[in-house]
Amino acid sequence: MGIAQKMSRLGTETAFDVLARANALAAGGMDVINLGIGQPDFPTPDNIVEAAVKALRDGHHGYTAANGIPELRKAVAGDIAKYRGVTVDPSHIIVVPGGKVTMAFAIEMFGEAGAEIMYPNPGFPIYESMIRYSGATPVPIRLIEENGFSFDAETVLSQITDKTRLIILNTPANPTGGIVPEAELAKLAEGLEKHPGVYVLSDEIYSRMTYDGEGHCSMLKFESLRDRLIILDGWSKTYAMTGWRMGWGLWPGALVPHAQRLCVNFHSCVNAAAQYAGIEALKGDQSPVDMMMEAFDKRRHLIHERLNALPGVRCVLPKGAFYAFPNISGTGLSAKEMQDRLLNEKGVAVIAGTSFGAEGEGYVRFSYANSLENIERALDRFDEFLK
Ligand code: PLP
Repeated sequence: MGIAQKMSRLGTETAFDVLARANALAAGGMDVINLGIGQPDFPTPDNIVEAAVKALRDGHHGYTAANGIPELRKAVAGDIAKYRGVTVDPSHIIVVPGGKVTMAFAIEMFGEAGAEIMYPNPGFPIYESMIRYSGATPVPIRLIEENGFSFDAETVLSQITDKTRLIILNTPANPTGGIVPEAELAKLAEGLEKHPGVYVLSDEIYSRMTYDGEGHCSMLKFESLRDRLIILDGWSKTYAMTGWRMGWGLWPGALVPHAQRLCVNFHSCVNAAAQYAGIEALKGDQSPVDMMMEAFDKRRHLIHERLNALPGVRCVLPKGAFYAFPNISGTGLSAKEMQDRLLNEKGVAVIAGTSFGAEGEGYVRFSYANSLENIERALDRFDEFLK
């Protein structure tokens, strides 16, 4: 076949395969409980939906500026000032169709044969997939269960070589629910002062999803990094807007023209009405976000307690996002066997840790974006399965 070699290097996100299989089993009559997919189980708040409807009725049907409408970029800058305490230039913000696009652009920009890009492992699978696709060598940053799935900054710094172009960070994290403590991030930022050519992509898509009053520490806090830092965030998780395809990146000034040119080449602009909804999300009532987080918090405690009561299973208390990442090595099953058998035999969809990289062997990811009742039922079935 005549397709380019790089296509064989592109990976995937198993969550979508498991979702398809779970749907097929459900269509065949099985009662499937889906703790596999990484999206809030709440609808997008009404005020946001209404803003999109109004935008359509007001005639916002055409292309917009490739980097997003100015009011939206101003609203994002306002949000950054409010939640990250830093003033940024709205012209450095580029609105894209989903969080993934900022990731893809950053990796495209720095990745090529001979370059190295570091990424969290276990981590969001698209990092490794896109790094390999770009031709660069992926260098895993190991996340350590005993440290609440943080990394060790000194180890990360020791892995930097003269080929390292980009370091990808993600806190709060998918799939572990872990948060990297501020002190560890500070150590990394300080160490990076000795490597001025290395850029950082900080995936902060779960920045509003933290618990126990533990605020989010953005990499923007570290001034020495600002001219080589890309921040990835968006609307998908915070506002239950995964299907709207809305994300934003904050780029260093020197990279803005490159990112903008990628927008023009790949997607022209983001859906116009969705952008107006994005303004309402950021500037309107935030109580639906608080309500979702309260619900997630109750589910987090339930799933953590129930998982730890199972034989051969232990689970760190997640500190952010809506994932639990139990260690199942004591059950004697591999991560993939556990994923397949729980779905096929018990109708419980979860994702094998190995879908998030080699370091995920011995773990499975449970998304607790589901009702307390379904979490109880799923854990009852997991319990029966293990017995
Ligand atoms: N980054 C992380 C860590 C994620 O978990 C996800 C989605 O699951 C994304 C980025 C992508 O978000 P979006 O759906 O907005 O493209």
